Amino acid sequence: MTHTALARKYRPTRFADLIAQDHVATGLRGAVAKQRVGHAYLLTGPRGVGKTTAARVLAMALNCERRGAADVPEGEPCGSCDACRRIWSGSANLDVVEIDAASNRGVDDARDLRERAMYAASSPDGYKVYIIDEAHMLTREAWNALLKILEEPPPRVVFVFATTEPHKIANTAAPVLSRVQRFDFRRIGPGVILERLRYVTTQEQVPAEDEALQLIARVAAGGMRDALSLLDQAVAFGDGTVTAARVRESLGLIADETYGELLTFVADRRPADVFPFVARLVDAGADLGEFVNGLGDALRALMVRVLGGTPEGVTDSLRTTVDACADRFAAGDVLRMLHLLQEAETGVRRSANARLHVESLLLRFAMLDRTVDLQAVLTALGEPAGQTPAVPEPADEIGSPPPRRARRGEVLRDAVPPPAPPPVRVTAPAPGAARPAGSRPKGDGTPPDTAQLTARWPEVVEAIRARRPLVAAALDHAVPAGIDGTVVALGVAESDVHVEGLERNRAEVEKGLAEVFGTRLSVTYRGAAEPASAAAGPPESKRLDQHSDRGERLKAYRAKDQALDAMADALDLELLD
Ligand SMILES: [Zn+2]
Repeated sequence: MTHTALARKYRPTRFADLIAQDHVATGLRGAVAKQRVGHAYLLTGPRGVGKTTAARVLAMALNCERRGAADVPEGEPCGSCDACRRIWSGSANLDVVEIDAASNRGVDDARDLRERAMYAASSPDGYKVYIIDEAHMLTREAWNALLKILEEPPPRVVFVFATTEPHKIANTAAPVLSRVQRFDFRRIGPGVILERLRYVTTQEQVPAEDEALQLIARVAAGGMRDALSLLDQAVAFGDGTVTAARVRESLGLIADETYGELLTFVADRRPADVFPFVARLVDAGADLGEFVNGLGDALRALMVRVLGGTPEGVTDSLRTTVDACADRFAAGDVLRMLHLLQEAETGVRRSANARLHVESLLLRFAMLDRTVDLQAVLTALGEPAGQTPAVPEPADEIGSPPPRRARRGEVLRDAVPPPAPPPVRVTAPAPGAARPAGSRPKGDGTPPDTAQLTARWPEVVEAIRARRPLVAAALDHAVPAGIDGTVVALGVAESDVHVEGLERNRAEVEKGLAEVFGTRLSVTYRGAAEPASAAAGPPESKRLDQHSDRGERLKAYRAKDQALDAMADALDLELLD
């Protein structure tokens, strides 16, 4: 089966057909119609939005044999005469020279231009058009040659420079740029691309699910040529209707439901689900860069939905996925997730350990300290507890603030009142909630002695674990070393990571102590090497050695492996936060 690529077959032949670039079309068509075509144009914009096509249409319009005919709109090429067809197809043509500056040949060609430009166009009223693609690849030398030409431009010679990276030529080509007319091409919106894909599939009589076309429009990211090439790819991948599943498979996309699953375990705060989730992605051969792309789209859609809007330019199934979980997220949380994603993106794309970066990112999502709705907290503090069943607990606020409140805009991170015992207990589980009887506070206000402290230490850790699992995890590296008045000394394994983390979470630890012993105690940390650990006896000493050993090893690993370093940082951040 011979097959003309769709991108080629549906490439515009008139300015009027340039999609989403009306400002360019109007400008160039007007110049041709008024015979005020400049000597040089610079066309900039992302790939696949029609720069080279516009250049060819300009060349056609200038050389069309039927220019000015009654059935040809003013300033447009006819698209069907010999000259138009030759130029459009890019076949050998003396008057239209296309140079790809990205190839070495292109650079030689550019050096050679000066001589070539001296030859007039082949017909007396024709134009010679040089189309220089990837113009940012031209050398300074080539630009200098071009400058000489443009200082005294031969008649009927037009240069069209196209580039995706205009900033790269700002310096080398400055004198030339002052002599060119510049047109900036726009990225094409997914709605416009979708419309075009519907048109093309109808023309081609290719049955396709709209959701399949929505996916392609999204992946094309503003490039029409890419969109049509992707459609080609999906069509070639199987028989019959082009389904969303086939598009995902042929393009290696991740199903929207996968993002739904991810958002659910993030909302549930189940960090342990991260590893099997990523393992399945990797086992399925998913491209993690693509996964992160899709995740960005999912979070953006979620943000729009949380703010009360309707996400545009996304597939129906992503919209459904996002609808299903939007009530469980506050805008502040989604914003922070987007921010974390942005920070992690480079690591995922550039690192040899993309998987670690993705795992670390998703862990941070799942462990995020949730935004607490200020209104909800104030209401909780001002009203009797019985009337406010929806008071969020810090470990679980994500689902709690009613959406109506969450939208009032005023949000506060970790807004739960700090240390001083609040008049109404917002932070602790409701009275009578499942908590082992042994962990009830003593309530007599007497500071414990070292033996009592050691005996009930596990209860303290568990009390903290209920609120801040990571702080509790860090406490696994600490043992009570003694108590002096109301100052509890904790021996911490010799690792900066843990000492620092616990230092920053001192208030949490003190809160845990207060809960168990019913009195305010403060905390100091001692390095493991200090003699205080004697109080804890031989088994603990051995444990500390192991930990310090592990700390050293971790340090060494971190120094060796950047990705692990980033991962450790990510985890610490949550610890230290
Ligand atoms: Zn023509």
